[in-house]
This record gives sequence, C-alpha cells and structure tokens, in this order.
Amino acid sequence: MEYKYGIAVSPGVAIGPALVLDTEGVLIQHRTVPPDQVEAEVVRLQKALDEAAEDARSTRERLTAKIGPTFGNIFGAQASVFQDPGLRSQVETLIRIQYYSAEYAVSRVIRDFVKTLEEAARKIPEHSRAEILRRSAEFIDLERQVLANLLGHPTDTFTNLTEPVVILANDLMPSDTADFNPRTVRAFATESGGNTSHTAILAGALEIPAVVGIGRFLTDVSGGDMVIVDGEEGVLIIDPDEDTLRRYEDKRIALLSRVDRYESIRDKPAVTNDATPVPIRLLGNIELAQEAEHCLERGAEGVGLYRTEFLYLNKTADPTEEEHYSAYASVLHKLGPSRPVVIRTLDLGADKFSSLSGTVAGEKNPFLGLRSVRLCLRNLDLFKTQLRAILRAAVHGDVRVMFPMISTMDELRQCKTLLNEVKEDLEDAGVPFKRDVRVGTMIEVPSAALLADFMAREVDFFSIGTNDLIQYTLAADRNNENVANLYQPSDPAVLRLIQMVVQAAQRAQIEVNVCGEMSGEQLFIPLLVGMGLRQLSATPRKIPEIKQVIRVLQVTEAQEVARRALGLETARQVSSYLREQLRRILPQAVD
Ligand code: PEP
Ligand code: MG
Repeated sequence: MEYKYGIAVSPGVAIGPALVLDTEGVLIQHRTVPPDQVEAEVVRLQKALDEAAEDARSTRERLTAKIGPTFGNIFGAQASVFQDPGLRSQVETLIRIQYYSAEYAVSRVIRDFVKTLEEAARKIPEHSRAEILRRSAEFIDLERQVLANLLGHPTDTFTNLTEPVVILANDLMPSDTADFNPRTVRAFATESGGNTSHTAILAGALEIPAVVGIGRFLTDVSGGDMVIVDGEEGVLIIDPDEDTLRRYEDKRIALLSRVDRYESIRDKPAVTNDATPVPIRLLGNIELAQEAEHCLERGAEGVGLYRTEFLYLNKTADPTEEEHYSAYASVLHKLGPSRPVVIRTLDLGADKFSSLSGTVAGEKNPFLGLRSVRLCLRNLDLFKTQLRAILRAAVHGDVRVMFPMISTMDELRQCKTLLNEVKEDLEDAGVPFKRDVRVGTMIEVPSAALLADFMAREVDFFSIGTNDLIQYTLAADRNNENVANLYQPSDPAVLRLIQMVVQAAQRAQIEVNVCGEMSGEQLFIPLLVGMGLRQLSATPRKIPEIKQVIRVLQVTEAQEVARRALGLETARQVSSYLREQLRRILPQAVD
C-alpha cells in the first residue's frame, strides 16, 4: 500500500481499479518522404487536420449542451487552430521543401511553437507563468490529436469505457476530461497539473473526484490495481490494505450521506434557532455561468459573487459585449427575476489570467500592481464593454454591480461615474437597459476597510473579500505556502477590520456580505453572525454546511462568541476558541 499526496481539485472519494494511461506520448521519428510522394503527404496532412477540426467542433457541441458554452468554447478554439491557414502553410512548407513526413512536420511546427512559449515563460516571474504554460500544454494536446489521426490511433478510449475505473495519468488534457462520464470514470489522479488548470476546473464542473500534481507515481502502479482517490484530502492510495479500504469506503458512504443529509436541509430556511428566528441570507459564489445551477441545487438564495474574469477562460482575446451579455443573461434566466445576482466587474491580473487584457507582464509585485479595478480604469473600453453588458442583462433580473479591489474613494467614484456614463450612452443609443441597479464595492484592501464609513455613503452594499483582505492585512501572499502560517482568517487584525466594516455598514444602513472563503467554513459562522453579518456568500457546495450551523445557532450566543473572540490576541487563540465553540454548538460539525 502506498500513499501519494497531491493537490485536491474536486471533492469526493472514489475506489476502483486503475486505468493507467501510457506516459510516453507518441514518439515521432524524423522521417522524410520521396519527392513524388510530397503531394500525397500534403493531402494526408489536410485530411488529418480537417478530421481533428471536425472532432473538435462536435466535442464543442456535445459539451456546450452538457455543461455549457464556456467548456464548449475550449474546443471551438481548438477547431480554429486546426483550420488556421498560418499553421497549415507552415506545416505544408516543411513537407514540400524539406520532404518531411506529415507527422514529423506537424510535430516540428507545434513543438517549435511550444518551445517559444516555454522560453517566454522562463523570462517572466514564476507566478505569472501559469497561463503561458497552460497554453503550451494545450498545443501538445492539439499535436497529439492530429498525430492520432495521421497514425490511425483512436483517442476516444474514454467514451468506450464500460466498467467503472479510476484514471491515472501523467497529465490529462481538457479534450480527455471532457469525455469523462462520471458513471464510468469514478475519479482521476495525475502526476502533473495545478488547481487552476482547465482539467481541474472541468473535474469540478463534472463533479468527478480528482487529485492532480502528485509527482511521479505511474511507475508504482499497474492497470487493474485497486486504488483510492480522496479529492478532499488530495490523496491517492495505491493497493490499499483491507483496513484502509474499509475506512475509505466508510468515508465515501459518509460523504454521500452528508450530501443526502444536506439535501434534506436544502429547502429549509437559513434562520437562527432563536425564539424569533433571524434569517441569514446565503448566496453562492460562481466563476462560470453554468454554476448558477449549482447555487439552486444547494439551496442558495442567489449569487453573491459572480467572478466574471472567468469569461477569459480559454480566451486569447477580450470577450465581446455579446459574450458578456449572454453569460449574464443565462445566469439570470436560471435564477429567475427576483433572486439577487451580484456581478463583480473584472478582477484580472495578479494570478488571474495575467497574460491578457492590458495586464502588465513582469510586474515585480503583481498582487500590488495593475490588478482588477486599477486595470479596468486604465482600459476604459474593456471596462465600459462589461458595464454595458451588465446594465443590458439587468433587465432580466435583480442584478447588482460590484467593484473589486477598491482602495481609495477616488477609485470608487471613478467607477460610479463611468457606470453613469455608460447608462447615458445606452440611453442615447436607445438600447434597453436597467438604470436603477444597486452598486456595491468589495472591501478587500485594508485602506477600504479603514475608510468604510466614507465608502458606505457612496454605495448600496459592501462585500468583504476576506481572501484578499487577509493577504493585504498581513502582507502574506495568499498563494505562497511559505507564509501560510501568517495567512489566517482568524488573525485578530483581520477580525478587527471585518468588525469595523460591518459597523460602518450598520450605521449607514447598507447591506454587508462576506464572500471570501472564510464564510464557507463552519468554524467562522458563529463569529460572523455574532459580528452582525446577515448575509454570507460561499462556494455552492458549502451552503448546506453553513446552513446546518445557522439553524442551531442563537444570535445571543453568536454575539458572545464574537465578543470573546475579538478579545483574543493571536490567530491560534481565536481558532482554538472557535473550534471549541463549534463543537459545543454543533457536536457533529465537519472539521
Ligand atoms: C476575496 O478576495 O475574498 C474574493 C472573494 O475575491 P477573489 O478570491 O476572487 O480575489
Ligand atoms: Mg479578491
């Protein structure tokens, strides 16, 4: 039995026989063809590229119908590459001038391109490389598909599976993952990959347990070996012993029954356990339009944070106004006219899609650089395009606009002025839109928290982004494991800032929400409710867990928890106090 640890990217436990994918890839020899076969070779190439384009188009349609256009578009983009005249002519030139075989010519062109991308990646800081490296991996995927056509190797092994398996591979491409059927692919684990890779995001959307980035392990496992994947803990267990199997089978069943149990509270109200129950509005955080469905399935009352920068997923150019509009309209159609949907304007830069849209490559401190609303205010066309789409989509429901990473009053006012200008433009052009959308700001920079009483005069609501508020308060990068000890939601400095913001909102009688990961943890619910929060927004999967705490909590006891926690001096003291309280309030709490 062996334990291998990686990055947990999609929760759930699965047990089953391993299907191990070959690690070698396709080895293409340097082969040439006689001059009189050159034209036949070019025809062979064109046929292989046409077939690959056709396959990509049909995958696009299949996936768009199954999980939405964002995923379908990955393959739309692939079809365009296969048909790109520039790519075709480069490969044909190598066949005609150098007499390369079609396989070798395709491989040369794509590999050269990948090499250029990887060299470019090496010249920029490590944290900004992810997007380029992801693109280079996708080009390798394209190469593999064309080669499979040329060599006559079928690549659709996943759609033909009849027995349930756990897939183990060095890496999986989005084109592989797209074909996974959760009934036959119980889980997957890979040697490479990170939690923002498209494969990881697809696994989450398909709800297939997955662990990636494990490092070398394929040599330690054979096809058919029994394996366990725990997508919550990020563990792969090869050849488990009886005891371990039993333990994980129990966990698997417990997780399923946890889902059932939570399903049973899905339709119950999120109200406290007081004589006069106090309602707490639970909202969902989404990245992709199709996740709106998940919000409803998990019992959220609306969308508290729509991270629209994910419209850039698989994009090499800015989304058009129509693409923005149709994504927002589809969320609103799913949620209906009266559920709130908070659309956050683009938060590009730093670690999110940092090679696109006016982002500046090579900034020394990208998290302190031209990120988010700062970038939008420097790229007004980009910003106005999105604002137009939001205002137009707002006719379909209860849309609220929210600006991220506001750090000064000037920034907030500039955003509001721009929103008004866009309204005037739409009015002049006679385009239907909703004028009276509510406007809010995220409070995720300490300066905004400190100015919360001023900011409250300018907006209809606040949403506290604890993910960033913690990193900027403690000067601890949210993605850097070396300072993870400092990056603590329970740090007293963070709690004080939250309290300050909530009190400013209460004085100004505006709504205040917490939408960072902190609000998805059961541990912090008594504290947040005790501090006065009546709205929380979290990843949809967490909503039932939060509701479970709320339904046994009394506001007076929550206030006492908050009072005591705010008197403690260190993050460790706060965490252990909150753990003790959660165990008391909800003995069966999920840690
Ligand atoms: C936050 O910072 O808490 C937040 C919700 O925004 P993001 O995680 O997208 O930066
Ligand atoms: Mg943030």
